[in-house]
Amino acid sequence: MPNLRFKAVAEAAARKALEFDAPSKKASEYFGKYVFDRNNMRKYLSKDTLKQVLAAIDRGEPLNSDVAGQVASAMRVWAMELGATHYTHWFHPLTDGTAEKHEAFIDFDGHGGMIENFSGKLLSQQEPDASSFPSGGIRNTFEARGYTAWDPSSPAFVVKDTLCIPTIFISYTGEALDYKTPLLKSINVLDKAATEVCRYFDRNVKHVTGYLGWEQEYFLIDEALYFARPDLILTERTLMGHDSAKNQQLEDHYFGAIPSRVAAFMRDLENECWLLSIPIKARHNEVAPGQFEFAPIFEECNLAVDHNLLLMSVMKKVAERHHFKVLLHEKPFKGINGSGKHCNWSLGTDTGVNLMSPGKNTKENLQFITFVVNTLMAVHKHNALLKAGISSATNAHRLGGNEAPPAIISVFMGTQISAILDELESNEEIREIAMQDKTGTRLPLNHIPELFVDNTDRNRTSPFAFTGNKFEFRAVGSSANCASAMLALNTAMTGQLMDFKKETDELIASGMKTADAVFAVVRKCIRASKAVCFDGNGYSEEWRIEAERRGLNCETRVPYILDAYLSESSEELFAKTKVLTKVELHARNEVKWEQYTKKVQIEARVLGDLAMNHIIPVATRYQGVLLDSLYKIQAVYDRDEVKRIAGQNLSIIESIAEHIDAIKLQVDEMVDARKISNKIESEREKAIAYCENVVPFLEEIRYHIDKLELIVDNEMWTLPKYRELLFIR
Ligand code: ADP
Ligand code: MG
Repeated sequence: MPNLRFKAVAEAAARKALEFDAPSKKASEYFGKYVFDRNNMRKYLSKDTLKQVLAAIDRGEPLNSDVAGQVASAMRVWAMELGATHYTHWFHPLTDGTAEKHEAFIDFDGHGGMIENFSGKLLSQQEPDASSFPSGGIRNTFEARGYTAWDPSSPAFVVKDTLCIPTIFISYTGEALDYKTPLLKSINVLDKAATEVCRYFDRNVKHVTGYLGWEQEYFLIDEALYFARPDLILTERTLMGHDSAKNQQLEDHYFGAIPSRVAAFMRDLENECWLLSIPIKARHNEVAPGQFEFAPIFEECNLAVDHNLLLMSVMKKVAERHHFKVLLHEKPFKGINGSGKHCNWSLGTDTGVNLMSPGKNTKENLQFITFVVNTLMAVHKHNALLKAGISSATNAHRLGGNEAPPAIISVFMGTQISAILDELESNEEIREIAMQDKTGTRLPLNHIPELFVDNTDRNRTSPFAFTGNKFEFRAVGSSANCASAMLALNTAMTGQLMDFKKETDELIASGMKTADAVFAVVRKCIRASKAVCFDGNGYSEEWRIEAERRGLNCETRVPYILDAYLSESSEELFAKTKVLTKVELHARNEVKWEQYTKKVQIEARVLGDLAMNHIIPVATRYQGVLLDSLYKIQAVYDRDEVKRIAGQNLSIIESIAEHIDAIKLQVDEMVDARKISNKIESEREKAIAYCENVVPFLEEIRYHIDKLELIVDNEMWTLPKYRELLFIR
């Protein structure tokens, strides 16, 4: 029987870069061709309809059914010109990824024939049979109705033959069953709360928009090698595999040229993204071999989230054309860097000011400091919640490991801003000087722009870092829907801004001048949020001890981290901001715990199966070969010479036996642990049991398998090894 591994290696090695026919047009000429964006709306909608749709998009004004009908039929005409025959409501269930159910445009015409039809009602709302999507018990399966409802703020788009309409997904009783619903709410409440605070500085501000620029990391491996690894197919990560002798030590991948097959994939993907209005701007190699990154120009948060979800699915499709598989898992390979999705986050006013960027004058700088300090407070108060927002079974492999992010959410501010905050807090005279709106060398607030010119200090060990004109939330996992992290952050910030406003208003009511009041509360916040600021090495053990002392959440076990959604402070925050109700929070946690359990359960099953019916047989076969040779040696040599000649083989035979024994024993124990855990009713307790009693076996079993990989004849080993998975292009 041919060794599948060698076949896969040969196939992968023989692959050439796909010739990619770059379009002859400039990107700016075809950008957004498949999106029903403002340009296309202008062409296909009447002036009046356009005006009403734009009011809905820009100001959240409701759309009446007449207008919806006109939009629907224009959308259909536009989509059919691009070859669409179907439409779907595209939504984000609580599992990661997106969901869609396609329906054809066809309808009876009432005279025995067929027509293409798409009504305002079909655009606005659908009732997918939602019983297969997780709801955490909100929706009993006998009333399996969930609604999807059109989100006009994210434009419809065409993928192949289907018009996709971004929608929210809610239960029959109105609870959110998705990520988009609470994300949109968090965006709205943040707009309101931030606008009110901005108005201390500029009465003209009417809206504040949250921006997100994600950086998507991923691995690419050849599909033949992927298909020869059942663990990758079923879990998206390698559950076994010894380190390659060379991995990322030299960091030569990061600075090296992009391999030609990968470059062709990237160009192809960028092209597809631009057609769909995803503004991909940067592409590069990452630190680990086989690892890469895409980053777009930042956009409004809701749109950016949709674009990231769309990117993840487009990536998978385009990769197939190039005979690659994209791995979005946070840690597909042990011992080398995992993948994250840094979420760059900032707030901007409708008057064109980035609130996270130092301004041109003292007033703008006080506003900047106010928003920075409120962010610090939000992260300080809700650091456990923010961690819950990025936690999952898969991201757990990055969290707590010696790579960003550590499992403690702290903020890196950099030396310059830290010094300014310290001075504002401690120097009694500064308030006087700072409030004078004239330039002078002694004004610390006026110094900020200059200081920032060469602010290059970057701390890669921080999960939440200020990077000059935005905060970078680095703890988000590569496979995650970034809405989860963004809605936690937006909501935490909203709650904090509401508190800030309340306190400032009280001071103003007691007779203080506005600027003085703002200043007083800012100062108090600087003091109160000190514990969350940390510029040192986030990986060090000293930091963990120090963080604990400062009262930051240091939990590393996912099922317990998720408890933060239900803490008193979180429930209060979500109620105050009206982003999620208590019922929703509890239901969503049920889903998260269940997801956690299922992921671990699948990994445990796959590893158990592979260990028993793959690894042990291969190792036993090799052991047999060694025994055969020993037998022959014995036939030729004297008994006491055998040891001299074949001593090494004897010890390998024994060591194979020891590893096989250990694997068998631990697989049995793991199966028992699973059986016991499966009987537990409560999703939380079950997830904890899986975390504490099943997960440890994954590592222990792997240890013995990886040892066998080193011993067993390379010719006999049937699973592609790390050196092949990671280095073949
Ligand atoms: P890095 O050094 O981390 O790669 P970049 O400057 O290349 O940083 O930016 C990374 C991401 O940050 C990009 O997606 C970019 O669009 C986004 N970004 C830049 N400015 C902002 C901002 N003001 N708000 C939100 N995201 C931003
Ligand atoms: Mg970055």
